[in-house]
Amino acid sequence: KFEEKHFKYIIVGGGIAAGHAAREFTRKGLQPGELAIISKEGVAPYERPVLSKSYLFPNGAARLPSFHVCVGDDEKERQLPQWYVNKGIELFLGTEVVKADLASRTLTVANGRIFMYRILIIATGSEAIKLTDFGVQGAHAKNIFHLREISDADELVKGMKRKKKGKAVVIGGGYIGLEVASAMRINDFEVSMVYPEPWFMHGLFTPAIASFYEKYFSDKGIKLFKGTVVVGFETASNEEVKIVKLKNGQVLLADVVVVGIGGRPLTTLFKGQVQEEQGGIKTNGLFRTSVPDVYAVGDVATFPVKRYGDLRRVEHVDHARKSAGHAVGAIKASEDGKSIGEYDYLPSFNSSYFDLSWCFYGDNVGEPMMFWDKSTPSTTKPKFVTY
Ligand code: FAD
Repeated sequence: KFEEKHFKYIIVGGGIAAGHAAREFTRKGLQPGELAIISKEGVAPYERPVLSKSYLFPNGAARLPSFHVCVGDDEKERQLPQWYVNKGIELFLGTEVVKADLASRTLTVANGRIFMYRILIIATGSEAIKLTDFGVQGAHAKNIFHLREISDADELVKGMKRKKKGKAVVIGGGYIGLEVASAMRINDFEVSMVYPEPWFMHGLFTPAIASFYEKYFSDKGIKLFKGTVVVGFETASNEEVKIVKLKNGQVLLADVVVVGIGGRPLTTLFKGQVQEEQGGIKTNGLFRTSVPDVYAVGDVATFPVKRYGDLRRVEHVDHARKSAGHAVGAIKASEDGKSIGEYDYLPSFNSSYFDLSWCFYGDNVGEPMMFWDKSTPSTTKPKFVTY
């Protein structure tokens, strides 16, 4: 039986938002022993986007400790595990919170230990949606991978090594699908992508942007199967995936399958205890939830987007960083009897494939206007802006 652990501040989840919140606490003044981070993952907070990009490269692949938080940020300060020790922050890694009782301010972790807090920050992020969630036939087969945490990326890398230069089927036409497809191609896999929409990055790309990127991917040798979905898998006698069956009747051979069909915010621990909205935990512009002294940041927060006058949940790294900083700013200000302004966020998101990258800012509305660099697309360095 463990002793109860008491902290002034606890962050549940040890991802990007947690790492950035820790940094902001130290900047605003933190006493040793005041802050604990409890994370299911076995490593200190790191920049998750690396997992679908350079983590998968055949040469010079990124590995920890090179991409611990906050190297992805402008200031590039890298918080190694020792940084937390030096700041008197306790990191409980490989530790899953299995129960949260917000009324009594207690958290219970998998081994039964109880943690108590004065202020809680929920930063549990999202989990990958799986085809097994929908009962797709054969979706439990070996060599079908998902990508959310570093342990998932390690499994995928092992699978890629076992099936070197084999056939890869990437399911999903969102940014993870595109990034993984390009990484698999760079690893000399024969790559097919399958997605139900008429073009990839459908919610974000205009038809003109998509046609540029889809041509680029096709020219790199990636086969695109659009407007259809996977209905099942067939396996070999060793239970490894062998065939991917599509709704349109086509079948694809596969040595490795990567499923990138979106994420789901991890709010289960707090269900019924805190107000929810759009599948996330509802907050105000300071990331306060409906429960006093409980904040939610990053992927799990549904917050007011001041400039558009609505509530949104944003599953991107820039918001994870900034929301964490803002919540900590609000906590520290209120301790001094002060207040700060509401979060005023300009949505921003980026991605990269092969030697291309893009950034998106703002809201995806209105009639698109495209401005091309005159030499695009014939040049090897194409460039354009869509407004
Ligand atoms: P996370 O970083 O997911 O951290 C949540 C943490 O909480 C995890 O460590 C998890 O293990 C832990 N946790 C969850 N439940 C519990 C529990 N019960 N007990 C203890 N710990 C728990 N965004 C972009 O803008 N650009 C990109 O290029 C980009 N690439 C991405 C690539 C990949 C492969 C992935 C998965 C995401 C990518 N994103 C990208 C999205 C971005 O990484 C997320 O929006 C961001 O990580 C959210 O930060 P977070 O702190 O809210 O959650």
